[in-house]
Amino acid sequence: MHQSHRSGGAVIVASAILLLTACSAAHPPPEGGQDGPSGRARKVGGQVAVADPAAVQANELGAVPVLMYHQLVAEPRSVYDRTPQDFRAELERLARERYVPITARDFSSGNIDIPAGTHPVVLTFDDSTVTQFRLGTDGRPASDTAVGILLDTAQKHPGFRPVATFFVNADPFGEPGGRKSLDWLVKHEFEVGNHTLRHTALGTVDDDTAQKAIADNQKAITQAVPGLSVVSMALPYGSMSHSRQLVLKGAADGVSYQHQGVYLVGANPAPSPFSADFDPGAIPRIRSQAATGPDAQFTSTAWLDKLRDGTVKRYTSGGDPKTISFPKSEAARLAPAHRRVARPY
Ligand SMILES: [Zn+2]
Repeated sequence: MHQSHRSGGAVIVASAILLLTACSAAHPPPEGGQDGPSGRARKVGGQVAVADPAAVQANELGAVPVLMYHQLVAEPRSVYDRTPQDFRAELERLARERYVPITARDFSSGNIDIPAGTHPVVLTFDDSTVTQFRLGTDGRPASDTAVGILLDTAQKHPGFRPVATFFVNADPFGEPGGRKSLDWLVKHEFEVGNHTLRHTALGTVDDDTAQKAIADNQKAITQAVPGLSVVSMALPYGSMSHSRQLVLKGAADGVSYQHQGVYLVGANPAPSPFSADFDPGAIPRIRSQAATGPDAQFTSTAWLDKLRDGTVKRYTSGGDPKTISFPKSEAARLAPAHRRVARPY
C-alpha cells in the first residue's frame, strides 16, 4: 500500500508503516502551537498531551448517527412523526449513551470537538414546522416543541449540547419571512440549512428549476438573517437532482450557493467525515422511529442498538479535535487527505 502524492510542493511517500506511526513521524506540530478550541489539547514540551486514545477506545473513523425528525405530534399520522414523549425519550437515551450533539455543519467539516470517549450525534429537523420551534409570549421556545425539549434535556444532562440543524422551507415555523424565528435559532447556535423554498423534489425537475428552488430559499434565509452562510442542505423526499453536482454548488437569478454537506432521507449511520467512504454530496440519515413496522431495521431505535452493541462500529472521540484517533486495525478506512493528522494506536 505505497502511495505518493504532492503536498505543499514536496513529495510525501506514505506507506503502511508511516501511516501506522503517523503520530510521531508524519504528524505536523499543531498550527502555531496553540491549544485546541476546548483547551483540552495541552502542549507539553512540543508535544500535544491528550487523553490516551486506547484508554477510551477512540475510533474517529466509526459511524455517526445523523437523526432525521419531522413533526412532534400527540398522535403520529405517519412514520415520520413522533410524539413529544418519544422525542424526549430518545434524547434521554442519547445522553445516557454518551452522545454529544453537533451540527450538520460541524459534522461535514470534520469539526468534531467533543470530550474523549463520547460519540457525536447530529440532530436534524426537516420542513420547519411549528412543532419543532415556536417562541412563546415570554420570548422563549415553547416547552412542547423540539427546541424546548432539547433545551430542557441539555439542562438535565450537562455536556449534552442543545444544538441541531433545521432544514427549512419558505416562511419557516409558521412565520412569514421567518426573520424572528431564524434569528433566534442562529443566535442560540442552532444551524439553519436549506430544504428548498417550496419543498421541490429535485429529481422531478430540470437542472435550472432545481437550482432556482435551492437559490430562492438561500435568498429567503439570508434576507431573514443577513450574512448567514448556509452550508448544509437536505433533499426534499430524498430526491436527488439529475446533475448531482448542483446540490453542492449552483446559482440562479444572481444568487449562488455552496454546500459542504447534502443530506439524504435514508437509511443508515453516516460514515465518519474522515473516512474514505464519506461523500459530502450524499450523507445518509436515520429516521427517528421505534423499531416496529416493515422498516424496523432502518429505524433510529434499531441503529442505536447496533451502534451500542458494536454490530456497527461507532465514532468515539479521542478528545483532540486536531488529530484523528483510531485503532490500527481501522487504518484502511482513513481518507488519504487526512493522513497527516492520523493518530492510529
Ligand atoms: Zn421535507
